[in-house]
Amino acid sequence: MHYPVNEVFETIQGEGFFTGVPAIFIRLQGCPVGCAWCDTQHTWEKLPKNKVTQEQVIQVDGTVGRWCDMEPEALISQLQAKGFTAKHVVITGGEPCMYDLKQLTSELESAGYQCQIETSGTFEVNCSDRTWVTVSPKVNMRAGMEVRGDALQRADEIKHPVAIMRHVEELDALLENIDITNKVMCLQPISQKPRATELAMRTCIDRNWRLSIQTHKYLAID
Ligand code: SF4
Repeated sequence: MHYPVNEVFETIQGEGFFTGVPAIFIRLQGCPVGCAWCDTQHTWEKLPKNKVTQEQVIQVDGTVGRWCDMEPEALISQLQAKGFTAKHVVITGGEPCMYDLKQLTSELESAGYQCQIETSGTFEVNCSDRTWVTVSPKVNMRAGMEVRGDALQRADEIKHPVAIMRHVEELDALLENIDITNKVMCLQPISQKPRATELAMRTCIDRNWRLSIQTHKYLAID
């Protein structure tokens, strides 16, 4: 199976449960969700005119919507050829769960990597059983897509972006029939504005959840 890869780079995971862990990010092209604050809008469209070579994609440059088709085997070879040392792989987007990720995650695991998927929860999650699934529910976005109950059920971690109290209430409505006992629950301020951070902190303390800060934004790294 081929996957449309936008970029591959090694950095530190900046948010959520694995904050601070060295990680290889595999960013897939394509997302129909339409979040207003999206900072990877260049991944939304998979335009034929932006198709490039594998070598171009493996260089860090997330500013355009370029992408290439890659098979897992070729992708893993590229990770090794680049000399990446991280063993944690974050498959992100775009919306990676537009694609069946079973083959990609299984082959990465066979090669010694631990996989994490970051998804909006608007598609069915297809991946290996060992993959860590982080659902960051995107509610009432432009495309009007529903956050799926089966994606929330599969999640190991639910990391919800918040700016105002309505966002917390929307999460509560989503979780009405979801057992969160064994899930890592995180609230993440949408912006670096004090109001969003204070709301997230206060709610995390009240509920004994985790605060997720986008540390990469404070560090000014990818
Ligand atoms: Fe952007 Fe992610 Fe929202 Fe898609 S789901 S629009 S990639 S923030």
